[in-house]
Amino acid sequence: MTDYELIRSKRRTLELRVLEDGRVQVRAPQRAPLRMVQTFVDSRRQWIRDQQQRQASRPRQRWQDGSTLVFRGQPLTLDVSPGRWSVSVSGGYLQVRVAEPDSETAVQQAVERWLREEARPLFADSIERQFGWFARQGYARPVLRVKKMRTRWGSLSAKGYINLNMALLHYPPAALDYVVMHELCHLQHMDHGPGFHALMDTRMPDWRQRKHLLDQPLYQP
Ligand SMILES: [Zn+2]
Repeated sequence: MTDYELIRSKRRTLELRVLEDGRVQVRAPQRAPLRMVQTFVDSRRQWIRDQQQRQASRPRQRWQDGSTLVFRGQPLTLDVSPGRWSVSVSGGYLQVRVAEPDSETAVQQAVERWLREEARPLFADSIERQFGWFARQGYARPVLRVKKMRTRWGSLSAKGYINLNMALLHYPPAALDYVVMHELCHLQHMDHGPGFHALMDTRMPDWRQRKHLLDQPLYQP
């Protein structure tokens, strides 16, 4: 019998999900009888196994001593050892000191905290270097927000925020500058029409090559 978590909701149909860690969730209408849910799960057993296998073989970032983390396009080897919290780059290594060096979660948390600290000044610097022309056109400098986003590299909000994906830290600086320039160009053109592309071509003639840098899977959460 397959183990699963049952979530009752206002929906009308049954839905099956296999999470990234392989756990199975079933969403069911409030009154669906348990026997019906169980029959449904049993009928999808092969599908569940396939999904679990696919999740398990999916390449993902590992957080152990010796694993590789790409930072700004450069591979760094994690050097994890026990100690008081500290994370720093030294040569080709990312030295991580944590109380529990054998816990991937602890290492991930330490490195993500460090990444968050690194992101702000690096992203702000990219905006600073590229904002001059927009300032001369009279645009207000958007306020930076660093975010963990699943589907977008960046966005520019009408309220004056430029949101940048923390995962940009794993890509070469040229790719970060491209995303920042793309969002800044939205100050002038909200859509992706011909005007927008003409402005990109003027401000950053090689933006297409830079954009391709983002096609590589350098970081898989
Ligand atoms: Zn856009």
